[in-house]
Formats: sequence, structure tokens, C-alpha cells
Amino acid sequence: MNELVFFYPEGHEKHFQHGHPERPDRVEAIKNELIESGIWNEAELIKPVSIPEKVYYSVHNPAHYENLRNSRRGHVDGDVETFLTEHSFQLALNSAGGAAAVAKHVWENSSKGFALCRPPGHHATFDQSMGFCMINNIAVAAEYLVQEFDLSGVAIIDLDVHHGNGTQDIFYDRSDIFFFSIHQIPLYPMSGFINEKGRGDGHGYTMNIPLPPFSGNNARLEALETLILPKLSAYKPEIILISIGFDAHWQDPLSQQLASVDNYAKLIKLISDWADENCSGRLALFLEGGYDLKVCSTASLAISKALLGEEWDDQLGESDYHETDQWKPDLERIRREWKI
Ligand SMILES: [Zn+2]
Repeated sequence: MNELVFFYPEGHEKHFQHGHPERPDRVEAIKNELIESGIWNEAELIKPVSIPEKVYYSVHNPAHYENLRNSRRGHVDGDVETFLTEHSFQLALNSAGGAAAVAKHVWENSSKGFALCRPPGHHATFDQSMGFCMINNIAVAAEYLVQEFDLSGVAIIDLDVHHGNGTQDIFYDRSDIFFFSIHQIPLYPMSGFINEKGRGDGHGYTMNIPLPPFSGNNARLEALETLILPKLSAYKPEIILISIGFDAHWQDPLSQQLASVDNYAKLIKLISDWADENCSGRLALFLEGGYDLKVCSTASLAISKALLGEEWDDQLGESDYHETDQWKPDLERIRREWKI
């Protein structure tokens, strides 16, 4: 039977701004749903690890941490969307510590893991906070594995509806960390185009799969099955890390991607099966976005069941909107350019 561990960010509710969509209720809704299902109580809760400075400073500019330390409240780096309270910097460090701890557990025990990171991380670049993110949790987790456990092949798959520009930025020159992203364009942060493929030694180790609005479930499934999984088989990662954001769901207020809970669970199941066959089952998920509470809780339960190899439910069903097929030529172009 699969082992699944969780990280819960103690004290995260102190990172809060009235009326902001990135709110504590998101993580609480997920936790409550997992408790009700019984999965939470059967799972091990992982505590944050302390992360060497060298790891932190490989992920973000030292000046970035100083800036966060000195910004007591309000906004940081001139980004009006990214709020900060007097507790936020510590909570961001705690979130990154929890991400690294789950990655460590998954690596050492060949298990599955789901870190309920908050604040989220995938928009934070080497130099700056943006898009509700201060410290890039999944990047810290990946770098921690590389530096502390000598990994040389880590795959990151970003399934949040927004491009993981921060993660891409941090590892853009690297071949030991392969970054994949399925996201909506046009949408914040307006990056992640097909021709962004990495730089220098990292060229060919960033794969962006932008989808137009209203692409729906089939586009995401086809992107995973015909692009990401074949590339994973060629790259042969030792572990897979996933930035999981539930904001591609049709009921989410911040996007128009029309994905269902069932689609999220199918994607995770496919990646989980690939991990079982090819990298000793090592798969860790890190929470990013998702702003409808019912979607966050329902999808978290469904993907947790997928990780455990169990059947899942989708009470929210499919969207009534008509899905476009404008994504088909884009996927064809990516397959051609990447020779897949
Ligand atoms: Zn997002």
C-alpha cells in the first residue's frame, strides 16, 4: 500500500489580508476535508526541516531575504498583489521548511507526499516576491534534494493554471532540474511561452505548454500523456515534484481553463503510476493556488485518493461551457519542436 505524508503550516492564519483571495480558509478547507475522510488521521504529519543557508541562497538572492526581513507589513517589491504581515517572512520560511521536509521524506522512504504550503511559492523568482509568493517552496525543496542528497535529476511539473515563472527563473540555466508547466495564456504573469526552453546548460530542460482559455480537460490530459510523460521517460528523474494549484478548475474565479476535479485526479494518477514504475514511487505535491474553497477541498481529497491508489469522487462535475479545440495546433507544434 502507498504511504502518503502531509505537511500542515502551523500558524499560517497570521498571514492574512482582509478580502485577499489567497486566504487561510483555503488550507483549512483542505485540512478539514482530509480529516473528515479519515485520510489525515492515518497519515504522518511532517515537521519542517531547517535548511542550510547555502540552499536558500542558491534559490533566492541574499538581498531578497533581507528585503523580506525588513519589510514588516504591507506590500513587498512594489507588487500590490503580494501582501505581507509582521509574521509573513517567518511563515514563508516555515512553508519552505515544510516543503523540503516532505521532499526529504519522500526521497528517503519512496513514499508520496502532499505539502499544504502557505504562503505559496511558484511565482517567487530568484530576486523578487510576486503573485502572492515570497519564497519559492518547490524550488527550495528541489535544491535541498540536490545539495543535501546529491540528486542529479529532479522533475518539477507545475499544474497551477498560472505559469510557474519563479521556478522557471530559478532553474532556467540548469539541466539537473527539469521544469514542466501546463498553464493558461493569456493570464498572469504572461510568461511561459512555447519558445522558453531554458538557457545555456539548461537549454532543453524547460518545457512550457501554454493553453488558451476554455481548453478544458482533454487538453491537459493530452499535454501530460503525449508531451510530459514521454519526456520524463527520456529524462529519467529520480523524483517528481508537483506544483499543485486548483485554479484551473472551471469554478475557480481567477481563470477560464474549465478543468474538473476528476481531471486533476486523473493527471495525478497518471504521474503517480509513472513514478511507481520508474522512480520508486517518489512523488511529492506542493500547494500553490486555487481560490474556490469547495474546489480546493474536493480536489485535494480526490488527488490524495489518487496518490493512495484509491477511487475518487467528483461531486462538482464538469463545466457546462463549450470547450475549444484551439489548443490542438499548439500541442502539435510543441511535439514537433521537441521531436516527441
Ligand atoms: Zn495560480
